[in-house]
Amino acid sequence: MAGPSQQALADRDDPARTARPEPLVGRVIRVIFLWYVLVAVALTGVQLAFEYRSAQRRLLADVAAMQRTFSPGLEDALWRFNLDVTRGILSGIREIPAVVAVEVRDEAGRRIASAGRTGDDDHPPRAGGEGGLDRLARALGAPVSRTFPLVHVDEAGRRHPVGAWTVHSDTALAVEQVRNTLVVILVNSAIKSLMLWLIFVVVVRRMVGRPLSQVRAFLEDLDGDGLGQRPFVLATRGRHEFHALTDALNGMVAKLRRSFEDNETLMRDLRQMNATLQARVAERTRELEVLATTDRLTGLSNRRGLDEAVAAEALRARRPGGGFALILADVDHFKAINDLHGHRAGDEVLAALSAALRAGIRADDVLGRWGGEEFMVVCPDTGLAAAAALAEDLRRRVEATRLPGVGRRTCSFGVAALTPGESVESLVARADAALYRCKRQGRNRVEAGLADGTGTRPLRGAA
Ligand code: GH3
Ligand code: MG
Ligand code: MG
Repeated sequence: MAGPSQQALADRDDPARTARPEPLVGRVIRVIFLWYVLVAVALTGVQLAFEYRSAQRRLLADVAAMQRTFSPGLEDALWRFNLDVTRGILSGIREIPAVVAVEVRDEAGRRIASAGRTGDDDHPPRAGGEGGLDRLARALGAPVSRTFPLVHVDEAGRRHPVGAWTVHSDTALAVEQVRNTLVVILVNSAIKSLMLWLIFVVVVRRMVGRPLSQVRAFLEDLDGDGLGQRPFVLATRGRHEFHALTDALNGMVAKLRRSFEDNETLMRDLRQMNATLQARVAERTRELEVLATTDRLTGLSNRRGLDEAVAAEALRARRPGGGFALILADVDHFKAINDLHGHRAGDEVLAALSAALRAGIRADDVLGRWGGEEFMVVCPDTGLAAAAALAEDLRRRVEATRLPGVGRRTCSFGVAALTPGESVESLVARADAALYRCKRQGRNRVEAGLADGTGTRPLRGAA
């Protein structure tokens, strides 16, 4: 199973694959937390808006309630025209958080006493200083002024108007009251968010992050060699999707292993089959090679085999002291055998002659059928004289052999030995010429082709 493990190694070397991905858990926590903060801010805003509205309502109610509380004292002080008492009451009223300024006017509308910055009709007094929150508060709020008449009722029950008092307030003051609520909400939210963050980090890491990294580590260590040797066990409590995933993973690994094993068996069978096939092909090739260089009728080398043997000898003969000789043999009057006894009988004669010739050659010599009723003997490391002697020996053998159905027959032999620098074609031509001379000079003889090609000399012959 070298394939899969090599693949796994290649994957490990790939930097794109080995780069640690962003942990899912971190991302999940960030997304959840971002949404939590957005929702919390929105809800806090709505809550503050409600708080602000009810603070405004409380403020207006407080201002309205002042008439009952302070009008009797102011009526009395004004009736008696006691300015000190009037001012004292006004500065007391000014201390109330809902009040920006307060003033008392006589019946003619003249201001008699005041506390706080009262402004004028066009520029009513506004609450607060110059801070950012104060400016925001002023933008949100509006000045509110309430004027209450001051009427003295004497013992006889007669009503005597003595003037009026005006309290100036500002709904922006409600912001002041909401500010504390805002602080509480913010601290509360910050603590809640922090706790939530911690809980998420601990819980999600433990319940999601840890199983995920276990799965990842298992998959990273998975290779063809150790495929599913030990099943993956998830080290986390409970029984949930991760456990189902683990089961599926183990099932998949088992399937993979089985398929690897099947492949292994298949590969083994294939290799075996391949080896058998290769052996058969080699055997068949050897047979074909033998067939291709063997003559079917005689079992000797055929023309091709002879060509190869001659070429090989020509190559060897290039070495110093190397040389070889050729003997060409031709059956005398063979046509007559065919004509008299039939072609089949001719074939049998050829086979019998082959056996006789084979029995006469040396172990190193190569005997083959040159064509028709002609044979060739390739004689390695042989000079002209030795080759001619061999040819003579063969001639005698043939002459002495009783052939099936036709009695005794003869052959003619042309002999030639390679001369330095001579081509194979020339050598064969000289052997052929010598054979031709045998035929002309009466057959059943041995003729040698001389090196210069001018003369030939009969060696031995019976004709
Ligand atoms: P020579 O003495 O001049 O060689 O006469 P020859 O009759 O032997 O020569 P020729 O070339 O006239 O005839 C050769 C004959 O050999 C002709 C051909 O039919 C016959 N022959 C060639 N090959 C085969 C073969 O494989 N089987 C048989 N039966 N005959 C063959
Ligand atoms: Mg012939
Ligand atoms: Mg012949």
